[in-house]
Amino acid sequence: MFNALIVDKTGDGPATASVRQIDTDELPHAEVTVAVEYSTVNYKDGLCLSASGGGLVRKYPHVPGIDFAGTVEESSDSRYKPGDKVVLTGWRVGEAHWGGYAQKARVKADWLVPLPDGLTTRQAMAVGTAGFTAMLAVIALEEHGLTPGHGPVLVTGAAGGVGSVATAILGKLGHEVAAVTGRPETAAYLKDLGATTIVAREEINETVKRPLETEAWAGCVDAVGGAMLARVLGQMKYGGSVAAVGLAGGAALPATVIPFLLRGVNLLGIDSVMKPYAGRLKAWERIATDLPMEKLEAMVHPATLSDLPGLGADILAGKVKGRVVVDVA
Ligand code: NDP
Repeated sequence: MFNALIVDKTGDGPATASVRQIDTDELPHAEVTVAVEYSTVNYKDGLCLSASGGGLVRKYPHVPGIDFAGTVEESSDSRYKPGDKVVLTGWRVGEAHWGGYAQKARVKADWLVPLPDGLTTRQAMAVGTAGFTAMLAVIALEEHGLTPGHGPVLVTGAAGGVGSVATAILGKLGHEVAAVTGRPETAAYLKDLGATTIVAREEINETVKRPLETEAWAGCVDAVGGAMLARVLGQMKYGGSVAAVGLAGGAALPATVIPFLLRGVNLLGIDSVMKPYAGRLKAWERIATDLPMEKLEAMVHPATLSDLPGLGADILAGKVKGRVVVDVA
């Protein structure tokens, strides 16, 4: 028996979450059983923990947790053996499959990545999907020509999970970082992570009035989408790229195509969920070298399984700063 955070619902009632003991036999069938050590809280976890399941959870009872890191306990796949340290993000684990909010998880070997050298399981979950996605975004910007010294890189939703990690990585890589936040009280935190300038959310959150504004940003990691992304497109420097990561501010894109046509701006889509294995390995290796671990630690808020229902509501309300690390012990 082991502890798991189970979300369950009866009939048409709301889904509710509680920590319960379950049996290893109740885990889904798959090749690798992992003794989970840490998980985390992403925006999607907030949706999966909510009363409606956010349209992501297919079946109840359900164990959410889109990320986990731990030690292999049993494996019928030759790539993994008991004792191996592993990390999992994406593949709809925690949504369509039981996830990491439990002391054990059973998943497909294809979904796992060996824990990179130099990272602990706790650090891997301080990174989690949010940080992994931030790294994918930075890699995509680099592949489209971003190098330090060509002007500030904008990070939107900067005090959130994706934004905090993007700020720390870009700062370490020598970029000037302009951090957009709606929470002025996070300015000192963002500067400690590596932001050179703080941009108030209101300054940039308005509907596009002119399709092109003064060229300001050499690149952008955008966790917000919506009106903010539309506005940012018109503020990019010639040939600059925006990595579109999230939709914390909305899924619509009320923009014009003018920045693409007259300034050669690139809009790069970033998906962490189905990212093929080679790209995953590369991103985790870059995280181990390019994310300063002391800055990562400064983002961490420790939590336990029983804190999760409250934290799920907090992340949906935009109240979580940095990264939550859930110790499932
Ligand atoms: P967080 O909630 O931690 O961060 C989101 C941040 O966005 C908030 O902290 C806030 O930053 C800002 N924000 C929230 N609401 C608004 C709003 N209405 N207008 C403008 N800014 C707002 O979430 P994550 O960092 O974990 O995820 C960010 C986004 O990225 C989510 O939409 C998530 O679904 C998406 N995502 C996508 C992935 C992919 O594979 N493409 C993977 C991971 C996440 P501040 O307080 O600083 O203003």
